[in-house]
Amino acid sequence: MKIGFFGVGHMGGPMAANLVKAGHEVTVFDLVPELLQAAVNDGASAASSAAEAVRDADVVVSMLPSAAAVRGLYLGGDGVLPHIDTRALIIDCSTIDADTARDVASIAHQQDRLMIDAPVSGGVGGAKAGTLTFICGGPEAAIERARPVLECMGAQVFRAGDNGAGQLAKICNNMLLAIHMIGTAEALQMGVDHGLDPAVLSEIMKASSGDNWSLDKYNPWPGVMETVPASNEYEGGFAVKLMNKDLGLAMQAALSTQSATPMGNLAKSLYAAHGNHGYSDKDFSSIQRFFRHKRD
Ligand code: NAD
Repeated sequence: MKIGFFGVGHMGGPMAANLVKAGHEVTVFDLVPELLQAAVNDGASAASSAAEAVRDADVVVSMLPSAAAVRGLYLGGDGVLPHIDTRALIIDCSTIDADTARDVASIAHQQDRLMIDAPVSGGVGGAKAGTLTFICGGPEAAIERARPVLECMGAQVFRAGDNGAGQLAKICNNMLLAIHMIGTAEALQMGVDHGLDPAVLSEIMKASSGDNWSLDKYNPWPGVMETVPASNEYEGGFAVKLMNKDLGLAMQAALSTQSATPMGNLAKSLYAAHGNHGYSDKDFSSIQRFFRHKRD
């Protein structure tokens, strides 16, 4: 298939590379020339404009940092929507608010184009390994059409409901992720403060009732797990600023239904303060540093 792919950053880069590996003809577009070059090195073609990336595309995928970027790409002054073939399927994998996802999909629908939201879980590791979880919102038939493409980049494809539902489910997940990452970091710090070895403590909690994804797959203490951002100065991975964005989306969603989210509220405040202390571009597991007694 011919696939137009927008946003080849931390996540989009390896996702596009996996589409190439699966035999698709992938044309990428990004605002950062170095990222375009990296995608070309992985076997994709680089487009010189957004419109060129969607020319003759059977499928269009976007993996962008914000709702404004998604709205701008499809509906902005120079929006690509009119350049997309009416038979093509549009899959937005960015994490954005459900209202924008519904809005853009509905405008696409009015213009005879089919669009679904398909935000992902699994991080950069999952994007590289092709084991992402796709959390989709949209008509069932459209998601079934997207499935073979999504399965080149991920291991699981869920339908949460209609357009926007994928975003809501994803935001619930990320609020929970922030909460258990913070809890994991504070438990590890307290153990270390009392002289425990963080690696031994991690093994104990993993085999006990404190086990969770942050502890098991993404340990925030440097050196406990080799391949995670914590062991690489918290570089790469899922930036604190993106976690802050997702927690903002969660708080917006909670407000609209008067849902009580005290832990989510606290997580939002902690991550906002952490970002303001210079960690905005670091991986979200760097919240571990928030708990240390002496800052460097
Ligand atoms: P990123 O900032 O590394 O990549 C986003 C890319 O989009 C950038 O390269 C940027 O230049 C490009 N871009 C912005 N506007 C564009 C436009 N109009 N046309 C083309 N390219 C454009 O971000 P990321 O970490 O890859 O995250 C992307 C999305 O995935 C976000 O919505 C994020 O919340 C979500 N997400 C990230 C992770 C993670 O672990 N990093 C995990 C799950 C979901």
